[in-house]
Amino acid sequence: MAYEKERRVAVEAVLKACRLCQVVREALVSEETMAKEDRSPVTVADFGSQAVISLDLLRAFPDDPVAAEEDAADLRTPAGSALRAKVTQHVSTIVPGLSDEEILASIDRGTWAGGPTRRYWVLDPIDGTKGFLRGDQYAVALALIEEGQIVLGILGCPNLPIDASRPTGPKGSLFIALKGGGATVRRFDDPSETRIGVTEIADPAQAVYCESFEDSHSSHNRTARIAAILGVTAPPLRIDSQCKYGVVARGDVSIYLRLPPRATYEDKIWDHAAGSIVLKEAGGEVTDVYGRPLDFSLGRTLRKTVGILATNGKLHTRVLAAVRQALESD
Ligand code: AMP
Ligand code: MG
Repeated sequence: MAYEKERRVAVEAVLKACRLCQVVREALVSEETMAKEDRSPVTVADFGSQAVISLDLLRAFPDDPVAAEEDAADLRTPAGSALRAKVTQHVSTIVPGLSDEEILASIDRGTWAGGPTRRYWVLDPIDGTKGFLRGDQYAVALALIEEGQIVLGILGCPNLPIDASRPTGPKGSLFIALKGGGATVRRFDDPSETRIGVTEIADPAQAVYCESFEDSHSSHNRTARIAAILGVTAPPLRIDSQCKYGVVARGDVSIYLRLPPRATYEDKIWDHAAGSIVLKEAGGEVTDVYGRPLDFSLGRTLRKTVGILATNGKLHTRVLAAVRQALESD
């Protein structure tokens, strides 16, 4: 199989990073020490996740650069020493035997500028930090880009129920997609994979859509107007992170709307690379809100597109028309 090694290494790396995030999160619950505005636990998990994945990639593919969200500059300052100690302690339990400097250097490997040439990895070590802190949804998202095209995407969703019809049942869903090879989902503790596919719904009135939990990331007002134009009656599923792509890909819902409150916001490539290939390989369609394809060859942001429209494919044209109508009346 093409990309067999890349797929295996990336899946293992994402699982390890998810485990680190879960350990940090569980400690948070048991300590109950966190003040509401204290973001340090998510920061520990963010840096730790990036280190664990970067170390695995470095070992397996030493020539591949990584474009990732974090860098270690803050951890290298005197004010960052307590945070640094926590990060290195968590990373060392998962990848033992490394010096602090090796761990910091692995985080600093994430500074690749992206662009149209060569191959590189794209990583969001924790997507949906607000969901992580709330105990809701978050994702570890890793993708491989070659000459500006996504070829592999791995999406680890530690809190996403395995079965949407049993929301209180077992959690932890890992999505895997290879360009031209379809998309699968597996549990964290069982390597067997199941093929996934989008819904067959073609009538928008029957559809359920999902959107960001945070109104500041995608305007709930605008999406509600689009839903009204489409005749959608079901309430939206509001979840954080690229888990949204996962739930459309496996057919829990049929539409993902992302309407930026500010048209000048440039979406980051690590917020959409893994999720979008998972959905496309599951039979769905992903564009911006004007129907333009997402262009991952422009650097670290998707600077030529606005927002996201992701659907099961069959609904795409209808939803695009409704988005246009809603935006024109703004
Ligand atoms: P979500 O989970 O859908 O709320 O999206 C989380 C992502 O939104 C984060 O990873 C951020 O990179 C991104 N983000 C941050 N600020 C904004 C903004 N003003 N508009 C859109 N997305 C944002
Ligand atoms: Mg993110």
